[in-house]
Amino acid sequence: MTEYFTRDGSPYPAKVGRVTYGRNDDKTGFGAYLPRVCGRCGGLGGADKWKHTGWTCYQCNGSGRGEPRFTPAYTREQLDRLNAAAAKRTCAAWRAWFKKPGTKRRAKGAQCVA
Ligand SMILES: [Zn+2]
Repeated sequence: MTEYFTRDGSPYPAKVGRVTYGRNDDKTGFGAYLPRVCGRCGGLGGADKWKHTGWTCYQCNGSGRGEPRFTPAYTREQLDRLNAAAAKRTCAAWRAWFKKPGTKRRAKGAQCVA
C-alpha cells in the first residue's frame, strides 16, 4: 500500500482520493478535505478581547473549527522531487546573489549541492 504525506512530510492524517476543490469545485486533486482550526480565534472559540460583543467568535460560533480545506497528498517520491526542485531554486537564487558584484564573499553556506 502506498503511503501518503502532507507537503511538510508528515504522514497524511486521512484517507486520500481524487476530490474536487476550488471556489467553484473546478479543480481536482489527490488528497482530502482536512479539518482546520478557526482562522479567527485559533480554535479557542472566543477571546477576552471580544468580551464587549459577547466573547464568542463570530466566525466559528464558538466551535473553534474552521472550514475544512483541500489538502494535497503526496507520495514519498513526489515529495522528494518537490523538495529537490525547491532546493535547486533556493540554490540558484543563492548563487545569483553570491555572484553579484560587491557582494561580500562569505564561505558560510557556500556548499549548495542541489
Ligand atoms: Zn473561531
